[in-house]
Amino acid sequence: MNARELEPRCASCGAVVSAAPHDRAVRCPVCFETYLRGIDPAFLDNLSRFGIRGRQVVAETCLRALVLANADDRKLLGMTVYEQFVGAGSDLIALHRALQRRGSAPISQTFLDFKLDAPTARAFFAALAREGPSGMLAAVGLPHPSALPPVARMGRKERRALEKALTAAVSDFEQLTAYQELGERALAVAADHLRGSTLLTDRTQWLAGRAISPGQVASVALDSEHGRLDVATLRVDEERLEQVVNGIDIFTRLARNLIHAHLTLNDPPIALH
Ligand SMILES: [Zn+2]
Repeated sequence: MNARELEPRCASCGAVVSAAPHDRAVRCPVCFETYLRGIDPAFLDNLSRFGIRGRQVVAETCLRALVLANADDRKLLGMTVYEQFVGAGSDLIALHRALQRRGSAPISQTFLDFKLDAPTARAFFAALAREGPSGMLAAVGLPHPSALPPVARMGRKERRALEKALTAAVSDFEQLTAYQELGERALAVAADHLRGSTLLTDRTQWLAGRAISPGQVASVALDSEHGRLDVATLRVDEERLEQVVNGIDIFTRLARNLIHAHLTLNDPPIALH
């Protein structure tokens, strides 16, 4: 057997793949992109029906459990609700970016590649404040519901559903502007704190010499570069947590409506049948 035969080859086109040999079939970059573009509609459909709903399910379960929980457990449950908020926000930002960049990369690739960081979270909310709902829709190739052009061979029922999804998206983008401060803060804390291990704590006197209130929980992360521990406090009182859960609902609904509108307008098999 010569060295050439040991080179991994693309299972689809037979081209030599410049990657370490793998015991499973491999694809070259071109075939990989073709494959991902082929699964994009089904990927989005799964994300909408199932994937992104997980955050809502966990957050609502925590909120119900809070009623019976003691003070310590309430803080831990509260922090879990924040984590779902961050997950839902991250999913929406990843989806928006993936739809925006669909011309240069498959949607599934950009979405799965996405890593949240504080500048990305800030840029998303800044774009929302600057462009408004119409601009956010236009960025992903979707029209404002009031300017929806006639779509060839689209049934009346599909058109109504599309108008409804776009109208709900406009309203949710509007509501999301009220979440700029909380969104940026929670997403930035998460981005800083999810890189390594963190400690959740209910008391901070031992760290900062300053106590947190009973309605707060703190997350402690290592900041070796600056020789310090970064302590981020978040409010976990009922009023704030309801606001956080409402934010999760907005992120989730918005993601689902963007997916619905995108698939209806860009996936002929669904629009035509
Ligand atoms: Zn190939």
